Amino acid sequence: MLTGKHLIAGQWIEADKTFRSATINQTDADFAVGRVSDVANAVTAAEQAFETYGYTTRAARAEFLNKIADEIDVLGDEITAVGCAETGLPEARLVGERGRTTGQLRLFAKHILDGDYLDRRHDGALPDRTPLPRADLRMIQRPIGPVAVFGASNFPLAFSTAGGDTAAALAAGCPVVVKGHSAHPGTGELVAQAIDKAIFACGLPAGVFSLIQGGNRDVGTALVQHPLIKAVGFTGSLGGGRALFDLCAARPEPIPFFGELGSVNPMFVMPNKLEADTDALAAGWAQSLTMGAGQFCTNPGIAVTVAGASSAAFIAQASKALSEAQAQAMLTDGIADAYRSGVATFDGTNADRVLRTEDAQGRSALPNLYRVSAQDWLKNHALHQEVFGPLGLVVEADSTEQMVELARHLEGQLTCTVHLNESDYDAAKALLPVLERKAGRVLANAFPTGVEVCDSMVHGGPYPASTNFGATSVGTLSIRRFLRPVCFQDIPKELLPADLVD
Ligand code: NAP
Repeated sequence: MLTGKHLIAGQWIEADKTFRSATINQTDADFAVGRVSDVANAVTAAEQAFETYGYTTRAARAEFLNKIADEIDVLGDEITAVGCAETGLPEARLVGERGRTTGQLRLFAKHILDGDYLDRRHDGALPDRTPLPRADLRMIQRPIGPVAVFGASNFPLAFSTAGGDTAAALAAGCPVVVKGHSAHPGTGELVAQAIDKAIFACGLPAGVFSLIQGGNRDVGTALVQHPLIKAVGFTGSLGGGRALFDLCAARPEPIPFFGELGSVNPMFVMPNKLEADTDALAAGWAQSLTMGAGQFCTNPGIAVTVAGASSAAFIAQASKALSEAQAQAMLTDGIADAYRSGVATFDGTNADRVLRTEDAQGRSALPNLYRVSAQDWLKNHALHQEVFGPLGLVVEADSTEQMVELARHLEGQLTCTVHLNESDYDAAKALLPVLERKAGRVLANAFPTGVEVCDSMVHGGPYPASTNFGATSVGTLSIRRFLRPVCFQDIPKELLPADLVD
């Protein structure tokens, strides 16, 4: 059952002001608006908790992560019902995302038990070395301290309260303070209830986790500026991420801001593949573009082709498939408005509108399709930007050489895709080294929506896809964001961290 309160270090806290969630089925509820004083209380408790939680055994933290997953499973149906009402996402999607979230928590439990992430190194003492002896040097990754987490609207579970950032930080040994997303406060509260139960069951300090509900942007800004916060995990828009990143950099003690931001995820459709599989590629792209009303950070918003008969047929087929799509609910009224204004921006450029849909009303959206020549795309920066929603743009190049030129002008991306067959390999050899510099994940003959949670996944990329090109927010490598290497020189074994003793 929802209380509408914040969870601050084990206490459910009311507030003098509330905000109303905007559900799709009019079952809106009131939630506490966050205050700057809530931030101070949550972060102070997190720092106190770090003094013990940061030194727990890996087995204790693995048990905690598994327990959170179990408690989320217990609340499963309620989470699905509230999540669907708040986000407008279908039930199957919420059920799938819950499985991904609990799977992620359990994967981190296994990962820390394996211990490889500690990257332990030992250079033994060389007392007789000349001209200088060498000390005993041991290195290990240690947790950094309290972490602030901001989730995104479009993944109310997997990139939110107990999503990848929270799971990675807790696995590393860092307490977490979540700034709840105002688009899904009820979903956030239910997940916080599950974490609260797990903290109690595992006998951990209550300050290990807090959720401060949204409704007040000052909460987010105070959180990233609090001196006891040592890193921020953020998933969301370029505008929001950049504002918070700048605050982190301007602190007296700057801290890392791991922002996973938007992307247009371009697909390069090579000429031989396009000619051989025109219809299948057009149908696949239309399906990928409209999945979840196009509200995926990996939505492939741009398809690059070589102009000609195959490209014309591809555009015609994609347009037909998109014209048959039904209007879909977007995550919030604000996101639906932002989509319509993105469409208006494209209409004001030199791109041709291929598919002219009626403007969907209120919180819903219909797809839109545009085409532009490579020359015109290069001249117009607005056409390089993410429009969050089901908007597709075909950029037609003169040749595969010009495709490479276009790739060089891309901003940083979460993904870049190449569709090709063997006859395209020679042209692709020139393209791949450019794409590798632009994206965290490069894929062939697939659509990028759908991110596997595993050891080798990279979900990140050069700015503006993310604010840290060396990091990923998905997969086990994401734990490294909340660790830092410490070298222990000649420290007696009795005083070393337990994980570092032979
Ligand atoms: P958003 O509007 O940036 O919101 C994300 C969070 O940041 C919310 O908690 C929001 O608070 C807060 N926030 C935003 N601007 C702020 C500011 N100026 N000061 C303080 N706090 C601020 O993003 P969204 O609409 O939820 O998510 C959609 C975007 O996320 C899309 O661009 C999508 O591509 C991207 N995304 C990226 C990934 C990835 O892994 N790279 C994954 C999913 C989504 P409020 O609650 O007050 O709004």
